[in-house]
Amino acid sequence: MSKFVRLIILLFYLIAFTTPCKAFFQERALSSSSPSLSSTGIFTPAEKALIDSGKIFKVCNVIQQANNNASIGIVRLIANKSGLKFVATPLMSWADSLAALQQGKCDILPWATKTEERSKTMNFTRPYVRIKRVVISRKEEPYFRDLYEVSDKVFAMLKSNYAVTQIRNNHPNVQFVYVDTVQEELDYILQDKAYGTIVSLYSAANLFNNEQTRELKVVGVLPPVYDDIASLATQKKNQLLHDILEKSLIATDPRQIEEFMSEGAVVSYDPDIDYQKYWIITFAIILIVSTLIWWNRYLKMLNAKLRESQIKLEQLSITDPLTKVFNRVKMDQVFIQEIETCKRYHSPLSIIMLDIDYFKKINDEHGHTVGDNVLKTIAQLIKSNLRTNDFLGRWGGEEFLIICPSTSLDNAELVAEKLRLALVNAQIRPLKNISASFGVAQWRDEESQESLISRADSALYRAKDGGRNQVSL
Ligand code: GH3
Ligand code: MG
Ligand code: MG
Repeated sequence: MSKFVRLIILLFYLIAFTTPCKAFFQERALSSSSPSLSSTGIFTPAEKALIDSGKIFKVCNVIQQANNNASIGIVRLIANKSGLKFVATPLMSWADSLAALQQGKCDILPWATKTEERSKTMNFTRPYVRIKRVVISRKEEPYFRDLYEVSDKVFAMLKSNYAVTQIRNNHPNVQFVYVDTVQEELDYILQDKAYGTIVSLYSAANLFNNEQTRELKVVGVLPPVYDDIASLATQKKNQLLHDILEKSLIATDPRQIEEFMSEGAVVSYDPDIDYQKYWIITFAIILIVSTLIWWNRYLKMLNAKLRESQIKLEQLSITDPLTKVFNRVKMDQVFIQEIETCKRYHSPLSIIMLDIDYFKKINDEHGHTVGDNVLKTIAQLIKSNLRTNDFLGRWGGEEFLIICPSTSLDNAELVAEKLRLALVNAQIRPLKNISASFGVAQWRDEESQESLISRADSALYRAKDGGRNQVSL
């Protein structure tokens, strides 16, 4: 697996296991089951039959309510021991959820306060929790001690909230505007369309976890008569379900409920996870990282190509295009460098100048292309007969120069002789025979490059004059 793929996978796991999975495991914790009640003989045969039927009951769950997680959680906590099965039915508002229960669209309404009116169509278990109600208002509003101090104000309230009926009886001057969601209540307060709202302390604790509520505060606590007293409500005709819930509630340790309630408030302080946003961000991070990695690789690849063409260009600038041996530019550089070495280390340096005999004739007889090919072959033949530290270059048309570092005149003569024989013995088609003349010279102290070449040149002309195919010093 490439580093790149490993990095992407690591990144994915890092993000995936930090946020949404945490929430997932918390959800699981709420639904953990407790030991069964049905073996205690607490349920009647009819109740037992309903439980054993495996029917799944729907819990009316207001999705935008501050305590919506606790709503389903509390039902599970109380009734899990009975063996009943539940599923949450999402509903938009408290009023919707009240109506849904009455129409039989859901079976259990958690967090319901028993009223005379509601008792006509619903059954209520005994209260499982009693929570103080508080007033939430804007930060700049002063705290109050008694509800009378704010009894001329406007309150934004959820439709069908029982607190409204209660307060209206005692404080007829309080005005209410009705909204569908807790969010709307907050919006009304923030936009100054209402003074405040009345919520249970539990809901308040759950509300103070977002950006918006930084502008809000709890300005007062209502007296005990206004406490939020919550029961589980069921349809009147669903008597068996009510009885099962009631018995389960009696069997539940109140401390467990208390613990659950306080846990719920703490859990909700975790910021809500917007999954869509989360996936978009994850995707964006992966995209950016992959793009960066790709870009980095692309640049590296470009650099390598650039380097490659640079090397090629450098090679071209010092190579003779026809014979592929060094050109004159490179040979001049080698001269400077080798003469420097000689001066420093007092080592010998010799050069061999060679010119092919009667080359014009080859061109005339066989054509220029054959002449070119013969040049190429001869260059390779010379090269293969030299040591690796000798330098071979094309000096003119069919003239080659060999620089032999650390080589005395005698040794250079031997090299030239070896090359001469190699040429004479070579079979270069379509030629019957070929030869070259050689001029050899050794560098003298303080001598210039030009002088050395000129002496080798003179020697070469003596070889030509002497009848060609020979070495002259
Ligand atoms: P010699 O050196 O023995 O006196 O006789 P030569 O015929 O070789 O005479 P010279 O060195 O004066 O002539 C060199 C010829 O080489 C002249 C030119 O046409 C030919 N020549 C030079 N460069 C090239 C080349 O790149 N390709 C070919 N085909 N011929 C070349
Ligand atoms: Mg020549
Ligand atoms: Mg010649």
